[in-house]
Amino acid sequence: MSALPFDQRDGWIWFDGELVPWREAKLHVLSHGLHYASSVFEGERAYEGVIFKSTEHSERFRRSGQLMDFEIPYSVAELDAAKALCVEKNGDPNVYVRPVAWRGSEMMAVAAQNATVHVAIGVWPWPSMFDMATKMKGIRLDMAEWRRPDPRTAPSAAKAAGLYMIATLSKHAAERKGYADALMLDWQGRVAECTGANVFFTQDGALHTPIADCFLDGITRRTVIDLAQARGMDVVERRILPDELPSFNECFICGTGAEVTPVSEIGPHRFTPGNISRTLVEDYAAAVRPRARAA
Ligand code: PMP
Repeated sequence: MSALPFDQRDGWIWFDGELVPWREAKLHVLSHGLHYASSVFEGERAYEGVIFKSTEHSERFRRSGQLMDFEIPYSVAELDAAKALCVEKNGDPNVYVRPVAWRGSEMMAVAAQNATVHVAIGVWPWPSMFDMATKMKGIRLDMAEWRRPDPRTAPSAAKAAGLYMIATLSKHAAERKGYADALMLDWQGRVAECTGANVFFTQDGALHTPIADCFLDGITRRTVIDLAQARGMDVVERRILPDELPSFNECFICGTGAEVTPVSEIGPHRFTPGNISRTLVEDYAAAVRPRARAA
């Protein structure tokens, strides 16, 4: 991956309806989105030039805006077309895709009823991190101190910028201790998710995963559930307490960025990445690639 800062790259950014040269895609410092976190975004991946589940991401993007009390001024079809154009224009068929929407500069106080909503889309290379052998060693997770909030205290179903402040704090703390990421509990002390990915466990051949009612119900999470069920596995969505961690054999996290990534440790608990994780890593890799899907 390029170490160049994101504002010093070349290419094209889709900005409020048109493609603009990458370095010219700027906004003013007095923007409501920056000061008050009235901003929502998406994270998607294009494989072989095709964005995986693009329409589901566009729908979630619009829904996130509505949960923040604003309407994204483009339809799902327009967003899908804009993302596809961005991937094509930038030339690399395997990229991460980042749509973002934010309130602009017309009003700079808590209320921003009349502020316009802006939308931009950037794409950049984000290779899958590991080969299979490295992946199957598993990553190490810290236990985060921050908890996912009660859905009555934050719009937790939105992929909203403000919800990421505790994710960044948790991930920084984890990285300082040498971990790859952190597992967050929810406001009631139950296992929730990682800082940017959902979590699954295995027990007696079945998958167990927390109910996504106070954190993002990932599009990858739903894909993994479908893939596991297509293999005849039982999938149990339920409350999972941290005390139960020693009773699970395998653990993996999943998300657009992480794809399916096995876990070897969560704080003091050890897991052994095994056949179920390997199967789902492979099934997900096949599901996202249009050529494999067509075969
Ligand atoms: N939870 C959080 C907090 C995330 O940021 C992400 C990544 N968008 C996920 C879960 C996984 O979501 P998805 O599978 O839709 O990428």
